[in-house]
Amino acid sequence: MNVFVQAESSLLVSEEIFSKFYLEKIQHLKQKIGKTPLVHIDTVNGSSIYAKLEYYNPLSHSVKDRPAISMLEAAIKQGLITAEKSTFVEASSGNLGIAYGQAGKFLGLKTLIVIPSVVGKETFNRISATGTAVEITPDGYCPLRNERDGAIAKVKDLFLDDPNMIWLDQYTNENNFRAHIEGTGPEIWSQTEKEVTTIVLGVGTGGTIVGITRYLKSENPKIESVGVQPQENHHIQGLRNFSESLEPEIVRRNRDVIDNWIKVSDADAFEATTYLWNKGYLVGTSSGLNYFAARKVAKENKGSTLVTLFPDTCLNSFKITQDHILGKSF
Ligand code: PMP
Repeated sequence: MNVFVQAESSLLVSEEIFSKFYLEKIQHLKQKIGKTPLVHIDTVNGSSIYAKLEYYNPLSHSVKDRPAISMLEAAIKQGLITAEKSTFVEASSGNLGIAYGQAGKFLGLKTLIVIPSVVGKETFNRISATGTAVEITPDGYCPLRNERDGAIAKVKDLFLDDPNMIWLDQYTNENNFRAHIEGTGPEIWSQTEKEVTTIVLGVGTGGTIVGITRYLKSENPKIESVGVQPQENHHIQGLRNFSESLEPEIVRRNRDVIDNWIKVSDADAFEATTYLWNKGYLVGTSSGLNYFAARKVAKENKGSTLVTLFPDTCLNSFKITQDHILGKSF
């Protein structure tokens, strides 16, 4: 055999073994992610409000385990990881970074996460603890697209400058919302015994609301989907206000599946978060925002079955919520 052909074929074999090794590990993680509890929180105006406790996910204790594994799995299947290319780089407001870091450690892959400067020290420490490299750029609570020096721009530069980097871009990647078409959506459908009428969710990348809504509408087109945005100049980690930042691309491409939009102020989201703490749910601020929005929708829709998510725990937003309780200004 020609020596070049031989070298090429042995490289192919090793990359096949590479993929098999990683995919087996991904399967192991996939079995542990999802199937989170759905709990009845309240009845308002004859409408039941349920929350899916996404902090039961094992890697980041957040909803972002689902898209992290879905995107990594697709990348491995596409052969993106090679002997040379094995550093995953991503912009994150925190939870995807933690999920990536944990998964990376388990798979034996390197990760580099760029987070916005406004994100608290707790988040920085949690991502660093996974062994991933963390860089900070001046940016808002959810990395903003279009900002020249923001987290996404930094990731783009790192990716373009270094051929070893793999950037899956959670803001545009269809495997982000596919995780919810295949997991979260079907789980809600069966956990509500097909009774769900309304889904109410805050939006960061839009992956969660788009994936869940697409699945639920495929089962029952009458199900209503309500997107929730925080106020302008907000302090809700992981979410976006579209007049400050561009509409996320995943939402822009799937706008037809979302029926209504509402806005929730920081004050209402923080109040709702502390209300949930007092009820025994030690959740983050986007859970408070989701819950406040679900109550608002319930008040206008008698006899509905509403489902929202509690996307994470208070671990990333504990200090800011406590400051709110103590009446400190941000
Ligand atoms: N809440 C929290 C705490 C998050 O980290 C995120 C992810 N940015 C979201 C909500 C929104 O999820 P998605 O990106 O799927 O819209």
